[in-house]
Amino acid sequence: MARRRQIYEGKAKILYEGPEPGTLIQYFKDDATAFNAQKKGTINGKGVLNNRISEHIFTLLNSIGVPNHFIRRLNMREQLIRQVEIIPIEVVVRNVAAGSLAKRLGIEEGTQLPRTIIEYYYKDDALGDPLVADEHIACFGWASQDEMNDIADMAIRVNDFLCGMFAGAGIRLVDFKIEFGRLWENDYARTILADEISPDGCRLWDMKSNEKLDKDRFRLDLGGEAEAYQEIARRLHLMPEDETERQVLDMATHRKRRGK
Ligand code: C5P
Repeated sequence: MARRRQIYEGKAKILYEGPEPGTLIQYFKDDATAFNAQKKGTINGKGVLNNRISEHIFTLLNSIGVPNHFIRRLNMREQLIRQVEIIPIEVVVRNVAAGSLAKRLGIEEGTQLPRTIIEYYYKDDALGDPLVADEHIACFGWASQDEMNDIADMAIRVNDFLCGMFAGAGIRLVDFKIEFGRLWENDYARTILADEISPDGCRLWDMKSNEKLDKDRFRLDLGGEAEAYQEIARRLHLMPEDETERQVLDMATHRKRRGK
């Protein structure tokens, strides 16, 4: 069998040619980088967990009408996705001050923001992904005004949905990064959500203890990064459940026991 063609290798993922035209296979690595790849390492099992977590989130987003590139998961580390032309903007949504916002503006980490902030960063590793304004995006033609309107609308919908989903799991969604792509249909491009949503690109804090359950554990040398990613998967019910818990919570078993 011919070796499949690699299209792109990023810091945490590899893209391969898909089985049909217009599709790609997205492979999740255990590699972790931070500070524009100045810090490098691996988080054991991260790729498997991110593949599963991202599948879960993108499937749910699709069901509430947020179009995205996810088609289906293929195996532990791979998913089939639609091929898009990535818009070179990283979209960061913030609910709580942390990370570069807290540092740049001298705001205490953990301060709840009075309103959600959307920021845009120009995707360019050589420049260190600089923060840019709408004006720069329009001036340099990185995205059209229509695309920016769609992106802002979708970013808010994704944020509202994820805040609720994570709150239900006892987790505070502090901030996250998403990316969008152009899905070409003849001469017309539709803007859809792409890339991944996982603890690699989100700040997720335990609601009670404020413990960090995301890539900041790696960035800040806190340790327990694999455990934190597993904790997120477990709280989203993506890990095999304990048998006794399953018997109590599974409605099918419950009905069978009652003879219905
Ligand atoms: O570092 P900063 O505070 O700007 O990051 C904001 C959010 O975006 C964090 O959740 C971080 O994980 C994510 N991010 C990312 N990839 C980048 C920059 C930020 O996933 N290149």
